[in-house]
Amino acid sequence: QDTINQIAAGEVIDRPCSVVKELMENAIDAGATAVTVEIKDGGISFIRITDNGCGIEKEQIPTAFLRHSTSKIRSVEDLLTVSSLGFRGEALSSIASVSQVELITKTAEALTGSRYQIHGGKEISLEEIGAPDGTTFLVRNLFYNTPARKKFLKTAQTEGAYISSLIERMALSRPDVSIRFIQNNQSRIHTSGNHNLKDLIYMIYGREIAGNLLPVEAVKETVKISGYLGKPLISRGNRTYENYFINGRYIKSNLINKAIEDGYHSYMMQHKYPFVVLQLEIEPEFLDVNVHPSKMELRFRNQEEIYDSVYRAVHDTLAGKELIRKVS
Ligand code: ADP
Ligand code: MG
Repeated sequence: QDTINQIAAGEVIDRPCSVVKELMENAIDAGATAVTVEIKDGGISFIRITDNGCGIEKEQIPTAFLRHSTSKIRSVEDLLTVSSLGFRGEALSSIASVSQVELITKTAEALTGSRYQIHGGKEISLEEIGAPDGTTFLVRNLFYNTPARKKFLKTAQTEGAYISSLIERMALSRPDVSIRFIQNNQSRIHTSGNHNLKDLIYMIYGREIAGNLLPVEAVKETVKISGYLGKPLISRGNRTYENYFINGRYIKSNLINKAIEDGYHSYMMQHKYPFVVLQLEIEPEFLDVNVHPSKMELRFRNQEEIYDSVYRAVHDTLAGKELIRKVS
């Protein structure tokens, strides 16, 4: 059982960043309006995630760490229509099988909180403890019991950078949640939970990177696009600053990256990768989700319309600005 869980863990959890992603999604699923992420050593030795969500009842705690146990929806088709981010019930069991986890949690109804420890998939303790409403996960020494996997980790600095950009994207995708990121005791990101997208972009990237923001707006039959394109128009070297969210989720799609780049390139011949933040709303019936434990692959039934709309939205934003400049 240990081995099976460790192998399964490899598919869900391959680096500290995936721990942070799963635990942040759980926090948001739990209705948290504030989430704090603290890491040390690139998250390899220390990750602490605190939320003010619904908490877990004491009796439910050991169950939550079982493989395939979820209190959420199970249907893959519903994935993009329901509000819940997680649904596989694999994250906690996977994380616990390859690290040392301490959980402190309290529901609003309970009189006291609970503290649970599980190391390498083995329960250490479950006791009552005073705690505020919400949940704190402390994950120490990732892969301490799977040295082969630990060897594949990059430097603490690189692992930390992955986490940092994950949190940036999470913060951008949820302007309504206050997200705080503390790295090696230094506060890196702190959003208030009631920013508009533009403020949020400036808060996260700063004017230096985002520049002036040109609003992007397009409404097509099956897709709605809104967001911002950064100016000055300079190529970014890679896709780091191509941010987009589909129905509020960060999901990668080559089609969308390509549409963004082609739209940009069509206007700015010498440039390739823009700074852009787009929110796409697509009717769920046009989405096909292919789920592998470690990643989600998205396919569109209306591929052409999606490509075209994104391409047009980017192109027209640039063209519109250029016209105004020429006229004035
Ligand atoms: P999933 O998110 O797919 O349901 P997980 O393994 O990530 O599976 O979590 C298992 C269960 O633990 C969740 O279904 C939820 O009931 C509970 N849980 C996990 N994290 C939290 C949290 N931060 N607050 C409240 N409940 C949580
Ligand atoms: Mg989950």
